[in-house]
Amino acid sequence: MDFQPDQGLDAFRDEVRTFLRENLPADLAGKPVGSVRSMRADLVRWQRILNQKGWGAPYWAAKDGGTGWSVLQRLAFDEECVAAGAPTQDGFAQKLLGPVLNEFASPEQKAEHLPLIFAGERLWCQGFSEPGSGSDLASLRTQAVREGDHYVVNGQKIWTSYAHESDWIFLLVRTNTEVKKQAGISFLLVDMKTPGITVRPIRSIDDCHHLNETFFDNVRVPVGNRVGEEGAGWNITKFLLNNEHASAADLPILRRYLMQLKKLATRQLAGGQALIEQSEFALKLARLEAEVNAIAMMVKRVAAMEQDHSPAAHAMGSILKVRGTELQQRLSEFALEALGDYGAIAYPEPHDDAQGEALPLQEVGRGIANEMFFRRASTIYGGTSEVQRGIIAKMLFQF
Ligand SMILES: Cc1cc2nc3c(=O)[nH]c(=O)nc-3n(C[C@H](O)[C@H](O)[C@H](O)COP(=O)(O)OP(=O)(O)OC[C@H]3O[C@@H](n4cnc5c(N)ncnc54)[C@H](O)[C@@H]3O)c2cc1C
Repeated sequence: MDFQPDQGLDAFRDEVRTFLRENLPADLAGKPVGSVRSMRADLVRWQRILNQKGWGAPYWAAKDGGTGWSVLQRLAFDEECVAAGAPTQDGFAQKLLGPVLNEFASPEQKAEHLPLIFAGERLWCQGFSEPGSGSDLASLRTQAVREGDHYVVNGQKIWTSYAHESDWIFLLVRTNTEVKKQAGISFLLVDMKTPGITVRPIRSIDDCHHLNETFFDNVRVPVGNRVGEEGAGWNITKFLLNNEHASAADLPILRRYLMQLKKLATRQLAGGQALIEQSEFALKLARLEAEVNAIAMMVKRVAAMEQDHSPAAHAMGSILKVRGTELQQRLSEFALEALGDYGAIAYPEPHDDAQGEALPLQEVGRGIANEMFFRRASTIYGGTSEVQRGIIAKMLFQF
């Protein structure tokens, strides 16, 4: 791994910055994004702007109509977009499902779904976890029974992020109960408007609604909506989960928190003095910044490993996930602490448009409490810290 400055990457970063400066509409920039996905109207508008530049699918290979960027270019793009406050893309469609469709879908499935993903006009959610089947995903019980040219799906998914705002869901179902549990799973694409699907909100501790329970009651899904062969769902899932180890720490979010903290530190006073002037605060901030920079170095290493298809990238990604998510929690806690008494103010939820009089420190304080609470879950979603530690421990025996 070469730690020398990479002039090519710096030039690319400059190009992204210039593009953002010239093309990100002022009314979209810095609009609070919520924890995972922007509001549909913002997302679609931003997706169109990216498409005009040819950057609509930053995570896909050039042969699939994507940008064909390297892992480091993708990370730089993400970082600059987050720093500029750009809306998100539909991560479920772009990062998770898109590569699966490009790899495994039939020509008909590609023709139906890929153009709408490009346009940002068909939003997706992920139906994997079930009550009792999260870390042990292969034990899932939602069943799909074949009846002619349809599957009839019955069961329940949980923690389905944005199911209430999504048009389609990619779903893992059990199509065979007689074989080893991994071999009995299939991967279906399901229209959320199909009769028999019920979505119930789970309001989370960040006072937002992005999580749901999703129930399937005799839901009829055409067999043509199955990706890959019947029983191939587990291999497809491994492919899907094996993407982008270098992004496991969510470095753009860490950098955004740091930026927000620095702004806050110059505006928030304690004892008549700006926080940044106070040595104890400044020292803690500097330590956290050093940790973020250490993670950035490690991200580079893991990106290089991924580019070389090194088997160790998987476990290194787990190290990044544990370190990165713990740091997200500490940074967001520190930001809330820096807000002082104002930390107790319920700033409007990020998805709401601000109404009425501005609250004290509104501009820098908005969203901090929601983020601090939301990031409690970062050591759970995407694979819990305990499971990541298990992966790391196994690696120690291998290498
Ligand atoms: C905010 C949020 C958003 C999510 N979004 C989605 C989504 O959109 N779609 C979706 O399908 N799922 C989603 N999930 C679900 C997520 O993938 C699961 O919560 C996660 O995989 C953990 O599964 P579980 O909740 O069933 O916990 P469990 O697997 O039951 O774990 C319970 C505890 O046991 C520990 N544990 C489990 N197995 C082991 C092991 N082998 N070794 C050591 N300790 C272990 C865990 O670390 C944890 O502490 C989301 C979750 C959250 C919190």
